[in-house]
Amino acid sequence: MVKNCYTANKASVTSSVQAICADYKNRIVPYNMAGAQSAETTVKLKTGQTLDFRTYQQMHSEMRAIEKMLESGHWILRRGTVVWRDYSKIEADEFVTEEPHCGFCTFFLNTLNLPLTKPTYGCFQLASRLSYILPPDLETDAEFMARVLAKDSVPVLRRSKKFLTGSSQ
Ligand SMILES: [Zn+2]
Repeated sequence: MVKNCYTANKASVTSSVQAICADYKNRIVPYNMAGAQSAETTVKLKTGQTLDFRTYQQMHSEMRAIEKMLESGHWILRRGTVVWRDYSKIEADEFVTEEPHCGFCTFFLNTLNLPLTKPTYGCFQLASRLSYILPPDLETDAEFMARVLAKDSVPVLRRSKKFLTGSSQ
């Protein structure tokens, strides 16, 4: 069933991925693998307090930050994007990663409407095999997955959402 859905929408899924990547094409910086292994992401709360997150095994610091911020309720998922609890946008100085983001994180942070500190296409082979880990709240969010699959096509976005949420046509 999943395979059939993908096959039927293959062209638009490919174009969606290309559209997401094209968003940051002009801002790409070189990827430094060694540095990324000890990457640290800092989140600044509205109170001015800062929280630091580090890469742990296959979950990069950016994803750990998202996981913990969603768990704590400071951030919420809204229409497949991440925003503050009061629905305001997360600004560039509120979500900062010292090292360049790998290709996997760059792609998903952009899909989530989160600010990109230093975007790269780095390590995209590993990323395309989904070897890295997304926060569970994202993996189970139909609207987020629909954005990944159909960012630039409203009809496919609607179909994907229906498919992912299990609702009938
Ligand atoms: Zn990463």
